[in-house]
Amino acid sequence: MNSIDTYNFQGKRALVRVDFNVPLDKQTMAVTDDKRIRAALPTIQHILNQGGSVILLSHFGRPKEGPEDKFSLNHIRSTVEKLVGRTVEFAGDCIGAEAQEKSKSLTSGSVLLLENVRFYSEETKGDLAFAEKLASLGDCYVNDAFGAAHRAHASTTQIAQFFPTDKMVGFLMKSELESARKVLNNAERPFTAIVGGAKVSDKVLIVENLLNIADHIIIGGGMSYTFYKAQGGQIGQSLCEDERLETCLEIMAKAKEKGVQIHLPIDSTIADRFAADAATDVCSSKEIPDGWMGLDIGTQAVATFRDVLLASKTILWNGPMGVFEMEAFENGTKSVALAVAEATRNGAFSLIGGGDSAAAVQKFGMSDQVSYVSTGGGALLEYFEGKVLPGVQAIED
Ligand code: AMP
Repeated sequence: MNSIDTYNFQGKRALVRVDFNVPLDKQTMAVTDDKRIRAALPTIQHILNQGGSVILLSHFGRPKEGPEDKFSLNHIRSTVEKLVGRTVEFAGDCIGAEAQEKSKSLTSGSVLLLENVRFYSEETKGDLAFAEKLASLGDCYVNDAFGAAHRAHASTTQIAQFFPTDKMVGFLMKSELESARKVLNNAERPFTAIVGGAKVSDKVLIVENLLNIADHIIIGGGMSYTFYKAQGGQIGQSLCEDERLETCLEIMAKAKEKGVQIHLPIDSTIADRFAADAATDVCSSKEIPDGWMGLDIGTQAVATFRDVLLASKTILWNGPMGVFEMEAFENGTKSVALAVAEATRNGAFSLIGGGDSAAAVQKFGMSDQVSYVSTGGGALLEYFEGKVLPGVQAIED
């Protein structure tokens, strides 16, 4: 397998699969958060500095049938230009004559951005002929789209076979994989996983896999109430998946068998309705009165979770502890973020899963106080569920 550090890019056109699926302002169509573009800069700059040229390939939103202006990557061209610090050419179609001509005329140090690959349904179908057309535009292939690595799409997976030797992962993908592997395969113990968020059903697979590798699993957020109800608790109107009660009991039993400690929030901040200005109170998480719902973990829960975290050497966090988007229910998530930061300062390795956990850590200004914040929500989750990421396998095969 080639490595981006040692590959000779001189005079080569590098087809770089990035994840430029950034949010746009609905009115002005300006990029509102350029984090994903910035994350790809080390790879882009390295190739350009080594005398290569870069052809950027990305998906953008979920267009239904063919091209749609609101999903055109042309909207982000000027932002890419500003961040890369060079002129960025744009091809209005990711395959065909224009893309061919523009890629052929690339000179060392130049950049070409191709139109949204998802304007072709062949992309999500993983169509081989489409992948071959994309592949014909470059001399080598670099996959730096960790956020899309769990999808077996043409531009993330099938395309790699057209570059039997000239394929590699980019710097972002490399660091994402290094930090995920460090936790999955080489976790220093005690290893604590924090799993939160709304639903048990979304997190069953990850919790089941974590039972094989973690020492402690902290369960918070909406999903904790299904665990409490399964054990006979009164949870009022809190989130609950009745069809998952049995699953929760099975998880608790397996944890006991494997010697993994499950920690549920002892108390909760409860509300009389799902609203930022609801009346609130604090009570035991298994004695929530009718008409009330648990929307955050309570202060006793924070204290017990903090003790577990401060004694940990490896921490993985996926999913918030409560409805952190509302100030009245952000304390649990914020306090857990503070405890993770404190553990990290004391020498623990902490990996924050993408999606809502990354958003929470960012909201509280703590992104630089943890070891690694992943850019890939779904991809990281699938990786920790024990699945093979097709985009990674295609490079490593
Ligand atoms: P997920 O995408 O499954 O990680 O879930 C994240 C969402 O779960 C966030 O939008 C939170 O507001 C929500 N959430 C967390 N705790 C609760 C709770 N106790 N009740 C309702 N929603 C919650």
